[in-house]
Amino acid sequence: MDTIAAIATPNMAGSIATIRISGGDAFAVAGKVFRRPVDDMAGYTARYGRIYDGDTELDNGVVLVFRAPKSYTGEYVAEITCHGGVYVARRVLQACLNAGARLAEPGEFTKRAVLNGKLTLTQAESVIDVINAQSERYLACCNAQKSGALEREIERIAGQVLSLSAHISAWIDYPDEIDEEPTKVLRQLSDVRLELSRLVQSYDVAKTVRDGVITAIVGKPNAGKSTLMNLLTRKQRSIVTDVPGTTRDVVEETVDIGGTLLRLCDCAGIRESDDVVERIGIEYMYSRIEEAALVIAVFDNSRALEKDDYDLIERIRGKSCVCVVNKSDLPDVVDLAALSAEFGGAERVVRICAKNPEALQTLSDVIVKACDVSSFDLSAGFIANERQRLCVIQARELVEQAIAGIESNAPLDTTGFLLEQVLEELYRLSGKSVSADIINEVFEKFCVGK
Ligand code: GDP
Repeated sequence: MDTIAAIATPNMAGSIATIRISGGDAFAVAGKVFRRPVDDMAGYTARYGRIYDGDTELDNGVVLVFRAPKSYTGEYVAEITCHGGVYVARRVLQACLNAGARLAEPGEFTKRAVLNGKLTLTQAESVIDVINAQSERYLACCNAQKSGALEREIERIAGQVLSLSAHISAWIDYPDEIDEEPTKVLRQLSDVRLELSRLVQSYDVAKTVRDGVITAIVGKPNAGKSTLMNLLTRKQRSIVTDVPGTTRDVVEETVDIGGTLLRLCDCAGIRESDDVVERIGIEYMYSRIEEAALVIAVFDNSRALEKDDYDLIERIRGKSCVCVVNKSDLPDVVDLAALSAEFGGAERVVRICAKNPEALQTLSDVIVKACDVSSFDLSAGFIANERQRLCVIQARELVEQAIAGIESNAPLDTTGFLLEQVLEELYRLSGKSVSADIINEVFEKFCVGK
C-alpha cells in the first residue's frame, strides 16, 4: 500500500501538532523531512531534529517511529511532532507530501488497521465512540467495546445459531429419529431472538449514556432549583435571586454525575402567572417534563406543601423521579411523610442544603440510583451505531421468520436457509464478512488523521 500522511491533532493552534505517516515509505519520508535517516531507529523510540521542506527549514521537533507490524496501522509509521501552530503543522504536512507521501483520506489510518488485522470493524467503530465520549461511564463502555466486547457477544449468538443449523441439518437427514426437536429448536430460537432484542435495546441505552439522561429540575419558584443546578454543574450557571420567577428561560447544561451523564434543564418555577414570558417558560417546563427521562423535583423544607406542589406531583407521576427537599438548614415545615408517600418511600426523598457543596455527594448517589440506564450492563457489548443496529434488526427479523416457519410446519430447508442468512447478518455486523462498500461507509465518518 502507498504511504499516507495527515495531521493527527486538531486543526487549531495548540502547544504541539502531530503529523502521522504510515506505509512502506514512512521512514523514507520522515528521513527526507528530518534530513537524516530514521530507518536505523528501533521501534517506539524518538529522535529530535530540524524539520525541512527541501532546503527550507520549517521547525524543530521530534520523530517517533513504529516498526511494522507493531503500530496502529500494522505498517511502518512515523509520527512527527512539531510546534502546534495551524500554519506550521500544515507546512510540515506539505513537506511530507513533497517527500513522497499522499494525503490520507478520512479514517484511512484506522481503515488500514482493520485491513491489516490490527482491529476488527466494530473495534474500529468504537474508536469514534472513545473520541466522542464525555463521561466516565461511556468511556469505560467504549473501552470494553474497543477490546472486543460486542464481537464476543456476536460470536456467542452466532455460535448458538450455528449449532441450531446443525440440528436442523440432522433433522432433515433423520426426521424419524428426532421427535421432540421442534419444541427444543423453537425454544432455542426464542432465546436467540431475546438476545438480539437485548442488543437492539442496548443501542438506546448507549445513546442515553453517551448523550446524557434528559433531566428536568422542577419545582415552584424559590424552592432552590437554580441553586441546585449550580451545585450539580459546580458553577454559577443559573441566576439565583430571592425574587420568585427569576429563571424565565430554560438553562441547559450537561454534567457528569457519578459517571453518568445528565442533560440538565433548570426550568421556570411552576406557579400561575400573568407574566407572558414566565408563562412561556412554564409551558416549556411542562414539555420538558414530558420528554425527561429523569425529573428532579425540588421542594422547600421551610414551607408547607401547597397547591402548586401537588399540581407538580400530579404532572410527574409515573416518571423516574428524585424528590429533593431543599433548605434543610431552615426549620422543618414541609410534610416529609406526605412526600415520602407520594414518591414511593423515604429512600426516594433526599434532604439537602443546596448552598452547601457537600450536598453534591448525597444528591449524586440518589440520582445515579434513579437513572434507569445504570442497571443495563453495556460493558458486555452494545450496539453503537445505525449500521450495527440495522444488522441486528435484520437478523432478528430472520429469526422471527424461522420461528413462524417451524410453527406452521414449513419445509425445514427454508428454516436452514433463514438461519444461514442470520449468520450472514451477524458476520456483517462484526466485520467477519463485509464488503468494501461497508468498510468505506464506516470510515467516511472518521476525521482525517485518524
Ligand atoms: P429557584 O427559583 O427555584 O430557582 O430558587 P433559587 O435557586 O433562585 O433560590 C431561591 C432563594 O433560596 C435564593 O435566595 C437562594 O439563595 C435560597 N436558597 C437556595 N437553596 C438554599 C438552601 O439550601 N438554604 C437556604 N437557607 N437558602 C437557599
